[in-house]
Formats: sequence, C-alpha cells, structure tokens
Amino acid sequence: MKDLLNIATAYNDKIRIYACNTTNIVKHAKEIFNLWPTSCAALGRTLTIACIMAEMEKMDSKITIKIEGDGPIKNIVVVAKKGEVKGFCYNPGVYLSNNNGKLLVGEAIGNGYLTVIKDYGLKEPFTSTVSLQTGEIGEDFAYYFNQSEQTNTAVALGVLFDKEGNVTDAGGYVIQVMPNCPIDIIEKLEEILKNIKPISTLLNEGKNIKDIISILSPNDYKILAEREINYVCDCSKERFLAGIKTLGNAEINELINSKEDISVTCNFCNKTYNFSKDDLKNLID
Ligand SMILES: [Zn+2]
Repeated sequence: MKDLLNIATAYNDKIRIYACNTTNIVKHAKEIFNLWPTSCAALGRTLTIACIMAEMEKMDSKITIKIEGDGPIKNIVVVAKKGEVKGFCYNPGVYLSNNNGKLLVGEAIGNGYLTVIKDYGLKEPFTSTVSLQTGEIGEDFAYYFNQSEQTNTAVALGVLFDKEGNVTDAGGYVIQVMPNCPIDIIEKLEEILKNIKPISTLLNEGKNIKDIISILSPNDYKILAEREINYVCDCSKERFLAGIKTLGNAEINELINSKEDISVTCNFCNKTYNFSKDDLKNLID
C-alpha cells in the first residue's frame, strides 16, 4: 500500500486536519541507514511531520527541519517538499527504552533546539527556532506551531515496531483550529484527543487515513486533497562534482595528487559515489 497524505476540513470548516501514513517511508529509512529502534522512531516521526508541513504551505516551498539535541541521537535533519521527503539522524544506533519496552525518544534527543527553515526560492529563507520541550518530536512541533506560527495546533506522530524491531506502521496528524472556532468544538475535539489511540496503533488495526480523520471528526468532514508521499533523494554524481568544484583548483589538485580514492557518501540516501582522477581533472579551470 502506498503512503498517502490527506487534507480535510472538519467541524463545519472550523478545523483543518492533515493526516498521513508514512509506513513505507520509515521502513525505507530504517533499511538504508540500518536504524536502531529509538533512532528510527525519532527520525520516522520527523519525516512524518515534514511531509505534513510541506503540504501546509501554499507555495511549493522546501522545508528543512533541524533537531539539535544533547542526547545520544544528537542531530536530525529532514528536508521535504510536497510529496517528497528525505532525512537522516547523526547517530542511527540508539536503542533506549524503559522496562516496559517503551522507546525513550525524548531522552535520546535530550535538550536543545528545533529549527524550521522554509525556502520559497526567494532571497532569504524563513527561519524559526524554538527550544525543544520534551524531545518527543510531536510535543515539540505543537509548541513550534503555537510559538512561531501562532496557531492552536495538536500534533500526533508515531512509529510502531514488532518484537523483532521491524517497523510495522508509521504516521501522523496535525489538527489546526481556525481563529474563529467556537469553544464547544474545541472542547469536543479535546475529549476525542484524550481518548484516541496512538496513530500507529490505529494503522496497525487496519484503519486507513480517512478512517482516522473520521475518528477525529465523527459527524462531518470533507477531504480537500489526497497526495502520495515518498522517500526521494535527488542526489547525483554531477551534483557532488559541482560541490567539489567549489573547493577551488588548489584543493582539487591536492585531491588528484593524493593516493587515496575519492568518494562521497550522500547523507540522505547513504549512496556512495566514487570519483576517478579524470573526473576531478575535468573540474580544474
Ligand atoms: Zn542521496
């Protein structure tokens, strides 16, 4: 089944819901980086919110999310545009859990900062940084939306594993309250959110994204858009060569004269590109 993202309007147009299934995306990330469960949960949640945030933009902008913490995972970087996402974490080998087997994502991230960069292709990208609240990712983004974008927002993100540590389900939703929303609607929604199961559990029970939207808004909702989302890295040998060229002739000559083979591994897809001496000589002006 493909990963899908839905946008819905609900509660008489007073609530906007963005919800998506990212099971394939997170499975793919786990495979290419050989992620351990806590690293996988942290990166998976961030990949999920990035898909949603790219979809929230009116324009086709590029969203970059950086999470910089003092826990063992250290940093996470995720880049998304509508329908496409890629990302990595600094330490893929973190497995922190409590006695009940609950993954301790907040401890693995630690204290630090969350930065969102929105690039509209204009001169200056929009950048906003907030302090991490719990490091659990969902709560940190709810805080980000309230602080940076002044919107009353609820965020749920989840990655579920089987006993062997394989990803079974992943997904998330963001609920935005319109400024003129009556208080009784907010109270009703809060009551539902208090009792709703984690999104990864709902997906695991076989519910699809529209089923989950209907749990969030049982009486009325309208799907505004549906989009397939994928893990995509757009790196290429040419792109890395263009990057090497910016080092300048002196440094490139040093590389040519060194005995070692020159190779570069892409952070976002773990693919390695090897460069011959001739590849490098072609870069000299
Ligand atoms: Zn790549």
